[in-house]
Amino acid sequence: MSRNPGEAKRFYPIDSLKSPRFTGPYTFARLPHTRDLEGVDAVFIGIPFDGGVIFRPGARLGPAAVRQASLLLRLYNPYLKVKPFDVLNVADYGDINTVPSSVESTYQSVSRELKLVYERGITPLACGGDHSITLPLLREASKTYGKLALIHVDAHLDMVDQHFSQKYTHGTVFRRAYEEGLIDPHRSVHVGIRGSLYSEDEISEAESLGFQVITMRSVEERGLEAVCREIRRRVGGGAAYLSFDIDACDPSCAPGTGTPEVGGFTSREALRLLHGLAGLEFVGFDLVEVAPPYDHGEITAILAANLIYEFISLKALTKRR
Ligand code: MN
Ligand code: MN
Repeated sequence: MSRNPGEAKRFYPIDSLKSPRFTGPYTFARLPHTRDLEGVDAVFIGIPFDGGVIFRPGARLGPAAVRQASLLLRLYNPYLKVKPFDVLNVADYGDINTVPSSVESTYQSVSRELKLVYERGITPLACGGDHSITLPLLREASKTYGKLALIHVDAHLDMVDQHFSQKYTHGTVFRRAYEEGLIDPHRSVHVGIRGSLYSEDEISEAESLGFQVITMRSVEERGLEAVCREIRRRVGGGAAYLSFDIDACDPSCAPGTGTPEVGGFTSREALRLLHGLAGLEFVGFDLVEVAPPYDHGEITAILAANLIYEFISLKALTKRR
């Protein structure tokens, strides 16, 4: 961050030609850490919480691993032909004070911080944490932008009513978002769905509520380009929110996650999927379910960091227009 008198402040990553990438402290993409939201367009926010998982915990360590894996990110995105940090002032907001034992208290903390972010028209790049953290992000987003179009990339629908009598878990988040009227199912889509299900009706039930469900098999059959075209058409020009569960990607490309499912997107396909969403009016993003204890050689964290860089680039394209 530099500020000459009379000039608006600009936020850039630390210059890695002058200061080696492995010199800390670590922030996302070596961007400035600040909670002063003045002049900021987008913020990386860590939400280190995994109290909503129903299987293997560990996603509370996600933000730290993603920051460390983000040190190699550079200034120009050649796929989307944009220098995102020339268009947007992006800061690392740090982590939200979660409450390890309480979903509800964590939701309150997330809401409190995110309210300030959305009210200022700033776009959050939230890094989980398990998928339960998406609910307060959507709640606060909808207060500013109304009903949102949701693009949900995941192996799982996360539309279960409850687990162990609990209404708020990482597998119920979009059922709650639907019930609370935060998202418009007719402009929303679940992409990458695969694996064994709780029942034969799980997908048709989501469809009967109005959601489009694009299974991994359907992606295989129709191809990513056609799928992206369809998503863009469905979402249209209104406010869109992108929630990306890293387990949408194949365990060979994202082993570090709590509920892996075989047969998912490769890293290359995940990039192509995001590039195919260019032009939509994104107002918020999250990347969830990176669980470093199951990761190997930072495979998952590096992918996650790069996907968040694509989020920033997509937002830069939206703003540039
Ligand atoms: Mn999920
Ligand atoms: Mn999932």
